[in-house]
Amino acid sequence: MLGTRKRGRPDEGFDLFRRAFDEAGRSVHLLVRAGDLRPVHVSANFERVFRLPPERMDDDIEALYRLIEPETRRSIRHRVDAWDGVGRLWFDFPFTADGDDEPCFFRCTVERVLDGFGYLVSFDDAQIERERMDELRGQLRDLSTDAQVKTDFLNKMSHEIRTPLNGIVGLLELARTHGGQPDELARDLDEAAGLGQFLMSLVNDILDMSRLEAGKVELERRPFDLASLAEDVRSIFGHSAAERDVAFAVELKECEDRFVVGDRLRLGQVIVNLVSNALKFTPAGGSVTVTFQEMRRRDGRAHYLVRVRDTGKGIDPQFLGRIFRPFEQEDGSIAPTFGGSGLGMAIADSLVRLMGGEIVIDSEVGRGSDMSVYLALDLSDEATVAASAATAEASRWTGELLHAAERAGGAES
Ligand code: ADP
Repeated sequence: MLGTRKRGRPDEGFDLFRRAFDEAGRSVHLLVRAGDLRPVHVSANFERVFRLPPERMDDDIEALYRLIEPETRRSIRHRVDAWDGVGRLWFDFPFTADGDDEPCFFRCTVERVLDGFGYLVSFDDAQIERERMDELRGQLRDLSTDAQVKTDFLNKMSHEIRTPLNGIVGLLELARTHGGQPDELARDLDEAAGLGQFLMSLVNDILDMSRLEAGKVELERRPFDLASLAEDVRSIFGHSAAERDVAFAVELKECEDRFVVGDRLRLGQVIVNLVSNALKFTPAGGSVTVTFQEMRRRDGRAHYLVRVRDTGKGIDPQFLGRIFRPFEQEDGSIAPTFGGSGLGMAIADSLVRLMGGEIVIDSEVGRGSDMSVYLALDLSDEATVAASAATAEASRWTGELLHAAERAGGAES
């Protein structure tokens, strides 16, 4: 505090104060002498803020009180009279300057300074405080919305888990009654195992989703070949597409730069989710096409568009605003007809955003959907990718991708 600084000439202290006063931005200051409470200096911005000539303060401390509206003045006087002069006294008051309709809120702070020579009276525009309060209120609102979103997530998650779990318990109970009927026993156990698999993939998706939401997923940065990723996608889905009588093509278009650095597995997971949906919602006779296209190259990075197009049922525009939310499906008929839990698109969207890209959807009911993943990747070269692929990582990638496809329900069984 200034009052405890080493003693100098009082003038020196004044000068310091004057300078501090006049450079003090939005705050208005007054230095009031302790003995007779005469204002000895008023900061230069006083007149601008209070629209009163500072001379009015020169010999009349009461003029200070007159700044304050009568209703508030009395209670403030009480607080000033009760103040022991130690520490800081502060109060907020509304002030309506001449010509203004609405009052401004000021915070006045009084403290003893210059070794007891006087009091520093500062006025801060409490509007700033109010803005801060509004900001805090906004944050609080966001937090409670977040909490609500989490509760909804938990509720939906419990519901989603309970359904297959009930099925498994029921089937196992039933299996117990089939002691002498091996066929029935095998059928119930198979069904229970199927539900167990579904439950496992659901729990994996839930874990993925919550790790993504908690910001705990870190992307790998390894060199890889986009063409080999495209090949994986082709081989993972080729068979099941043929079985469903859906024409399936994966192509690399204008892809001069195939060798890139990024998280192959996670990008693969996104594409797998999009392709398995495309296949799921496209009836026999339709087609699903995956295109990898290089859009432009700049500063060692290339911008790609990975596009998954289908001629399936399409998506209602009303639903598009909710499609990236966890556990959302277009309507109640989706789960019984097509299965799924509504987590795939939420995971894909979070992953692409984590990669700095975005998914854009264009869809028309009855005609099909077009899912475009835009993202930029650093460029690598063939030799680096070959050296990296020679490690065991490469086979892990393909294995994991296949696993992701199984989870998304699109891989051949
Ligand atoms: P899931 O497929 O497990 O239901 P997703 O999050 O992957 O969950 O998709 C959410 C919903 O979006 C789907 O249930 C479906 O209603 C809609 N959807 C996603 N992709 C397509 C598509 N290619 N064609 C039609 N509807 C789709």
